[in-house]
Amino acid sequence: MPRFNLSWLYICIAMTFIYLWITSEDSAVDRQLTYTEFKTLINKGYASKVVAFNDNTVDVYIKPEHVKEVFKDDYLKVGRSPSMNVKVGSIESLDKFLEEAQKEGHFTGEISYEQKSDMFGTIFWNIAPIIFFVGIWLFIMRRMSGGGAGGANPFTVGKSKAQVYDKDDQANRITFKDVAGQEGAKQEVQEIVEFLKQPQKYTELGGKIPKGALLVGPPGTGKTLLAKAVAGEANVPFFSMSGSDFVEMFVGVGASRVRDLFRQAKEKAPCIIFIDEIDAVGRARSKSPSMGGNDERESTLNQLLTEMDGFGTNSGVIILAATNRADILDKALLRAGRFDRQIHVDLPDLNERKAVFEVHLKPLKLDDTVDPDLLARQTPGFSGADIANVCNEAALIAARHKKNAVGKQDFLDAVDRIIGGLEKKTKVMTAHEKRTIAIHEAGHATLSWFLEHANPLIKVTIVPRGRALGAAWYLPEERQITTKEQMLDEMCATLGGRAAEELFTGHISTGAMNDLERVTKQSYGMIAYAGMSDKLPNLCYYNNEEYSFSKPYSDRTAELIDEEVKRMINKQYERAKTLLAEHKEGHNQLAQLLVEREVIFAEDVERIFGKRPWTSRSEEIMNKEEETKALASNDEETETPLLENKEA
Ligand code: ADP
Repeated sequence: MPRFNLSWLYICIAMTFIYLWITSEDSAVDRQLTYTEFKTLINKGYASKVVAFNDNTVDVYIKPEHVKEVFKDDYLKVGRSPSMNVKVGSIESLDKFLEEAQKEGHFTGEISYEQKSDMFGTIFWNIAPIIFFVGIWLFIMRRMSGGGAGGANPFTVGKSKAQVYDKDDQANRITFKDVAGQEGAKQEVQEIVEFLKQPQKYTELGGKIPKGALLVGPPGTGKTLLAKAVAGEANVPFFSMSGSDFVEMFVGVGASRVRDLFRQAKEKAPCIIFIDEIDAVGRARSKSPSMGGNDERESTLNQLLTEMDGFGTNSGVIILAATNRADILDKALLRAGRFDRQIHVDLPDLNERKAVFEVHLKPLKLDDTVDPDLLARQTPGFSGADIANVCNEAALIAARHKKNAVGKQDFLDAVDRIIGGLEKKTKVMTAHEKRTIAIHEAGHATLSWFLEHANPLIKVTIVPRGRALGAAWYLPEERQITTKEQMLDEMCATLGGRAAEELFTGHISTGAMNDLERVTKQSYGMIAYAGMSDKLPNLCYYNNEEYSFSKPYSDRTAELIDEEVKRMINKQYERAKTLLAEHKEGHNQLAQLLVEREVIFAEDVERIFGKRPWTSRSEEIMNKEEETKALASNDEETETPLLENKEA
């Protein structure tokens, strides 16, 4: 049901007027004649035209010069076509009478016979188009304001749709305690909290506090959470809005929403405005307007820039914005005095993941097999949101199995599910296909075992999941920079599937398509962007302009890049084949084991090939951590007796 609001009232009033206008001619003056009066009218020669209808009624049209006389005082209300209506006995008698009148020269006008159309139809066809257009208009307006502050009200389209979290809403209050890890980012925003709590401490010294801070980082790393925590810690209202909420089909709506947002915020100052995905409006304005610049987005951005300049630093409104693409933002947005502070919120590392797990494990009912430390190790590259998802998914899996508490295996299943999609045990495969997939996956596993820089293997499976037919799971190292050797080793391991197929089945298949795509992209990246090829060393052709149809290099260089890519991939492919040929025996055993068991783990691979010749960096880190932990526990042991002695 559409909610009642004032606009419906306006529409009702308008409809009433329209109705009155259409029916007014009949209601204003009494136009009914008796047959006698009708005869007198005709005989006096007042009629200009007679229209007879099939239901024995007749309209008599009055000559303009006699209107006043016929309609008496009401003659001003008679409307555009002054006519009168009379009921006759039969059309034949009317004919006779009119013929006589014509003969005697009383009536000279024309006579016509018509079908009477019903009143309802006339009104309907008069109003229908109006209703139709009003309907369309309402529909469009409603779509425009879609679910925003005004709901279905078309008159609030320019109002901001910000969600407001009040400071008194203690139940949903988020504090820094809810944000695990992210110590660096927390420290940076701490200052903002301090300012919101005691602005005079800063303003007394003449200092200015940043008006805005930009939280930059991959999706799901807790940017929104951090912004909410700032509001929660400072205990101020929090306006949350997504960048795309500003953008609308019509030019000017976004700008008016920005104005409205800031007006609301100023009323509630001190407060925080949070704009998520600011790149939706803050994208660099196009340099050549002829290239189809986005007018609406640009006018919205201009308004945002103006508003940010428009209030003083001490007005108490602080803007936090989040994006994962700081590189495409307009320079004007990043200049000092606007979002002059960029806070990087990165994917959590091992310890941070453990902390995030601890936050999200709290509400779950766990059994004692669950160890956050192990879970954190199993989830490299996961964002905070992924981890929250794992915890929820694990609970769902446990519930599906009708368990009383969530266990370790539920979590591991949840991780698998999130990485690879749902297991599809029902997918029909021939024995031959299964064997080919096993050979392919065993190829990856074998190579990753013998390549120094390849990521350590966790498990290999040939159970189809999501869109993949089989998968090898690795524990990627969390490193900040990657060397050429590491990338080449990874490439070689990725090509291992196709190489194994060629070597051991004699055919190549489409199963390697995904691998090939990754390898090709990676090698283009290495050569064109990272300057890692012999023939094109130290060159980066990266170009982040929005509309760039020309490449920043010559055709000859393009050819050279293509050649280098081919050479690099071929070299790694040959290397993969050589390595596989060397370890043919082991590979075969591995493939056989896979066909039998469908899932094998690093321990099985170790049993076949012996211990991995290389220790990975993460293992090193792990060992180091364990050493320090052991040391720390030693310290504790020596300390406790001392304390006891003191007390004694
Ligand atoms: P984004 O960076 O995309 O704004 P959000 O802040 O919306 O990510 O995070 C989504 C969800 O992920 C949060 O609601 C929270 O449950 C979880 N999350 C992300 N990072 C963390 C973290 N550091 N600590 C606790 N939970 C987190």
